[in-house]
Amino acid sequence: MIFEQGPIRPPSEAESLLLRLTRNCPWNRCQFCTTYRGETFSRRTVEEIKSDVDTVSRILDRLREMSVSLGYNGEINLQVLSDAYQTGDYYVIHVASWMYRGGRNIFLQDANSLIMKTSELVDVLEYTREKLPTVDRITSYARSKTLLRKSPGALADIRRAGLNRIHVGMESGSDAVLKFINKGVTSKEHIEAGRRVVEAGISLSLYVILGLGGRLWPEDHILETARALNQINPDYIRLRTLAVSPGTPLYDRLMAGEFAEQTEDEIVAGERILIEKLQGISSEVVSDHMLNLLEEVGGRLPESKEHLLGVIDRYLSMPGADRLNFRLGRRAGLYRWLDDMSDPVRKARVEALARRLSSEGRLDGTLSSLRAQMLY
Ligand code: SF4
Repeated sequence: MIFEQGPIRPPSEAESLLLRLTRNCPWNRCQFCTTYRGETFSRRTVEEIKSDVDTVSRILDRLREMSVSLGYNGEINLQVLSDAYQTGDYYVIHVASWMYRGGRNIFLQDANSLIMKTSELVDVLEYTREKLPTVDRITSYARSKTLLRKSPGALADIRRAGLNRIHVGMESGSDAVLKFINKGVTSKEHIEAGRRVVEAGISLSLYVILGLGGRLWPEDHILETARALNQINPDYIRLRTLAVSPGTPLYDRLMAGEFAEQTEDEIVAGERILIEKLQGISSEVVSDHMLNLLEEVGGRLPESKEHLLGVIDRYLSMPGADRLNFRLGRRAGLYRWLDDMSDPVRKARVEALARRLSSEGRLDGTLSSLRAQMLY
C-alpha cells in the first residue's frame, strides 16, 4: 500500500503526515532554489488524491488490527510502532509514526497547493477531514501570486474546509531583490496576499532569507522586508540565511561577479536591524534552520524583542576570534547554541580545527562550503 509523496516539507512539519496534491513547483524560476530544478510541474486529480487518503486510512486500519492482536485495544503505542518498523515498509512506518504522535497534523505537498481550483481543494480538504478524523491542523506552501488569484471569499471557503496554515516564501520585501532573484512577485503583491490570508483567518508563516540582498542591496533588503512584515503582521516570521548552492542561476551570477555575498557578521548585523525595525506586530520570530547562525533568535513580538536583540548583541560583541570560533563550530556541527562555547573541550576542538584549516589555507572555503551543504 503506497501513496505519493514529494521531496520536502517545512521543518515545523517534521511530525506531519505528508500528502501530495500537486507535483513540483509551477514557478520553478527563483534564482537561489534547487528543490525542484529540472522537475516539471503537474497536477494530480482529486480522485488520485482521495485514493491516497484512502490508502492512509487502510494503513491505519491495519495498524489498529496489529494493536488489537497485541492486546492494546487499537492504540498506536510504542510497541505497535516498533512492529511497524519491523515491516520495513516506508509507508506503514510513516503513518505509524504520525499516529503514534497523535495523528494531528497534515502537510500538503508540493510547492504551491493553492494553485488547485478552489472547489477541488475544498473537496480534498473536506474528504481528508472526514476520513482522518484525528487531524486538527492542515497546512500547505503557496506563492503570493497564486494567493492573489483567490478572492477573500474563496480563502474563507478554504479555511472553513480545513486548511489552517499557509507557508509562503516571501524571501524579501525589496522589489530590487525580488526582481534580481526572479521571485515573480512584487513587495506590494506579497503584502496584499499576506493580508488576505490573515483576514481569511488562516495562520500565515512567512519565510525571509537573511543576506539575500548581498552586497548589492543590503539595506534595502532589510528595511523593505521589515516594512512589508509590519504591514502584514503574519503569525510566524521564519528566518533563513542565504547559502548559494552550485547549480543555481544565483551561483552562476556569483561566479560571474554579478552578485557578492555578505559576510556572516554582516548578515547578523542586518538581522539585528530587521528585528529592531519590526514594530506594531505580534508575530512569532523563528530561526528553525541550521543555516541560521543564531538559532536562539526566537520569540513572540513585541515582548521578546529585547531577548532577540540581546542574543544578536551577545554574538556581535564577542571578540573576533570567538565569533570565528562560534561560526566554525556551528557550521561543523560542534555547537548549536552560543552557550555551547562555554564547554572548554568543545571550544578547544573547534580552535584546533580552525588552526589546521588556517595552516592549509582552507578556513574561509570550508566555512562557505559547509554553509552551502545545508539545504533550504
Ligand atoms: S523558492 Fe519556492 S516558488 Fe521559488 S522556485 Fe523554489 S519552490 Fe518554487
